[in-house]
Amino acid sequence: MHSTTGEHMLEVNLPRLKESLLELADIGFNPIDKGIYRSGFSDADMAGRRWLMQVAEKDGFSTEMDGAGNVWLGLGELTKPAVIIGSHLDSVPAGGMFDGSLGVMAGLEVLRVVAENNISLQYPLRVLATAEEEGRFGGMFGAQAVTGCLTPEWILSAHDADDVFLADAMRAQGLNPMDALDAAWPPDQIKAFLELHIEQGPVLESEDIPIGVVEGVSGVFKWIVHLKGKADHAGTAPMHMRSDAFMGLADFAHEIQRIIDEDGTDKSRITVGKVELIPGYPHTVPGEAIFTIVGRDMDEEVMRELATACERALRAIARRHRLNFEYKEVSWLGPRYCSKSMIALMEQKAAARGWSYKRMPSGAGHDVQFFSGMTEAGLIFIPSVDGVSHAPDEWSHWHHVEMGANLLLDCVLAKAS
Ligand SMILES: [Zn+2]
Repeated sequence: MHSTTGEHMLEVNLPRLKESLLELADIGFNPIDKGIYRSGFSDADMAGRRWLMQVAEKDGFSTEMDGAGNVWLGLGELTKPAVIIGSHLDSVPAGGMFDGSLGVMAGLEVLRVVAENNISLQYPLRVLATAEEEGRFGGMFGAQAVTGCLTPEWILSAHDADDVFLADAMRAQGLNPMDALDAAWPPDQIKAFLELHIEQGPVLESEDIPIGVVEGVSGVFKWIVHLKGKADHAGTAPMHMRSDAFMGLADFAHEIQRIIDEDGTDKSRITVGKVELIPGYPHTVPGEAIFTIVGRDMDEEVMRELATACERALRAIARRHRLNFEYKEVSWLGPRYCSKSMIALMEQKAAARGWSYKRMPSGAGHDVQFFSGMTEAGLIFIPSVDGVSHAPDEWSHWHHVEMGANLLLDCVLAKAS
């Protein structure tokens, strides 16, 4: 293909990329629900990592597993800072074949194209297949390790929902948990970080745009709210004499859109995702409602305004229904921004191929967020069919896979030349 400026462009080999992705999708595949099971540090996850190293070795690239279980594939000596192409190889339980895997295999495809065309680059390339991105143990372990965001205390205390400790899961795979601390890279050894990922949402498909240029990962806060009234007999307590905690929650649910309209942006999200009513009997007025609020935005100031508006609305509602109101902020993570220069490069390269693209935030977390404070970092999205992800039905069209991988290739060449 030729660009709009007439320069000859390299192309990824889609059949080869497709074959690699399909081969990887067999590892941890469950024929009953058709999902992929490669949870961080499970046997299938490690089998996927070993498979990747074998494939890359056969192609003549250097391979290495670091102390955090991250797999590194390399082209070129590390005499200068590396351009890193990264995403994750683990999956959620019953996950799909593109989440994470796409970015890793597209990275390998970029190495193959550079090698077979004998392109000489100024900077070395590294493909990073991160370990445990999906948060089985509550973090983004591999990316945190590389960017120096781990502590020994965290490594020893992290455990999954079944109380399996990260340290034990690593030892069972022959890894020494404390070696993860040695996986950190000095910032000056990294030239840039690029990730290709599926959108995992419906926006690109619904607007018929093949490429998302990600501005950053939304900040997110999580609250646990407790509204406490009085449990009463559902037959004898007159409506006007109740302190019904559920009615407080219902009133709040109706305030969410107003809060976003008044204090939010088009990137704001507020979700009540988990609700518990106590005592939870059909014939009893619920005396207590315990529920989560998760708020997101790309601007930390807006996040604060959303949080304040939620608090104010809940206080007023609690008074109206004679409820006691308490909340606990469980977590607050500020937004992470992709580099402006990388966003501009991605837009320029997409335009050079004559493709439409859209600047967008990512509502989901990604490996790139740990690199964003450390180096020039960028993230490319391609559409997800029906917006489905973290499910066996997750799919992206092959022509979009090819476009995303070609844009990744263009950007990597620009950064490494
Ligand atoms: Zn992912």
